[in-house]
Amino acid sequence: MATTALMNTYGARKLTLVRGEGVYVWDDQNRRYLDALAGIAVCGLGHCHSAVTAALQEQANTLVHVSNLYNTLPQQRLADLLCELAGMDNVFFSNSGAEANEAAIKIARKYGNDRGVKTPTIVTMDGSFHGRTMATLTATGNKKVKAGFAPLVEGFLQVPYNNIEAVKALAGNPDIVAVLVEPVQGEGGIRVPDDDYLVQLRQVCDANQWLLMLDEIQSGNGRTGELFAFQHHGVVPDVVTSAKGLGNGLPIGACLARGEAATILQPGNHGSTYGGNPLVCHVASSVLTTLTRDNLIANAHSMGEYMLGSFNSKLAGHKLVAEVRGKGLMLGIELKQDCGQIVDLAIARGLLLNVTAGNTIRLLPPLIINLAEANQIINTVCEIIDEFASQL
Ligand SMILES: *Cc1c(COP(=O)(O)O)cnc(C)c1O
Repeated sequence: MATTALMNTYGARKLTLVRGEGVYVWDDQNRRYLDALAGIAVCGLGHCHSAVTAALQEQANTLVHVSNLYNTLPQQRLADLLCELAGMDNVFFSNSGAEANEAAIKIARKYGNDRGVKTPTIVTMDGSFHGRTMATLTATGNKKVKAGFAPLVEGFLQVPYNNIEAVKALAGNPDIVAVLVEPVQGEGGIRVPDDDYLVQLRQVCDANQWLLMLDEIQSGNGRTGELFAFQHHGVVPDVVTSAKGLGNGLPIGACLARGEAATILQPGNHGSTYGGNPLVCHVASSVLTTLTRDNLIANAHSMGEYMLGSFNSKLAGHKLVAEVRGKGLMLGIELKQDCGQIVDLAIARGLLLNVTAGNTIRLLPPLIINLAEANQIINTVCEIIDEFASQL
């Protein structure tokens, strides 16, 4: 029984989880689950990875927090490492994804205001998800996320995703200052745009002096088979946000910037008490070095290709399956009807997954997953879809 002392933002929750190791977690009845959700794309290294635990213990014994009034070495090291890996100039550290996007939004607004733009406006996409703060829920292209929270924040405009013409059509609008977009939509149903979408967005942004701002909070940190999804396409954004997989469960977000965008925020313009404290930064550095050292980004690529191919062949022609989509270990199986019950069918078979956008089974397994574990997910998910179909 769950306590009523928690605000009811998550509804009833089936499971009480007590421990984790690698790709597995255990509940309070000591039942084991293969975690194909990884804390919503957070635990890329799996649960209680030795490198993360060691970094956590080491830094907990050294220095946990001093505020951003002081320089710390773990923050400096993470900034250098992250900017080098991303090809960006500098970074602001926050505690979450939404806050990383808030920093991006403030950069875009100040970029516009500095240039005398009357109402600096950021273009975002239908079906997008950017967070739950007032500005990021306004940026989010999903009515359900906004419902009940009027008045919303000014200065956002949504257009259809993966539709370059819709963005080009805004070229004459003097208020536009930036485009904020997920390279692969996560919450929106694992939507993978056309291969040239980002390249074309880069061109449109360049032609109009708009900032290209990528929300890689879910798609980043190796998930799609590159450290950042934009690295598949040979484009570099002006701003990119990260969070989720960066801390493997420690709360950290990052807003990286390049070129002019990297010069916008100056002393006094932005801040955070906890953001980038030595504990989370030391852990995040260990996550990035472990991803590289253990070839986990390449593993995400190959396991993702394998899973996508297997699902496509096993589910081909299935009467309930609309489409299988994905990039790396960001996988979605869209059914022809809403399928929230799939979550419980999976729990009964010892598998954790999630359904997003109502009808899309979402798989975000840890990047450490091996072939046997991938096969277990594939087989179980296919069985569950059949079971769900037989109950209709
Ligand atoms: C999860 C997510 C966010 C919000 O991150 P929080 O840490 O929950 O604030 C923003 N954008 C995308 C694409 C996400 O997947």
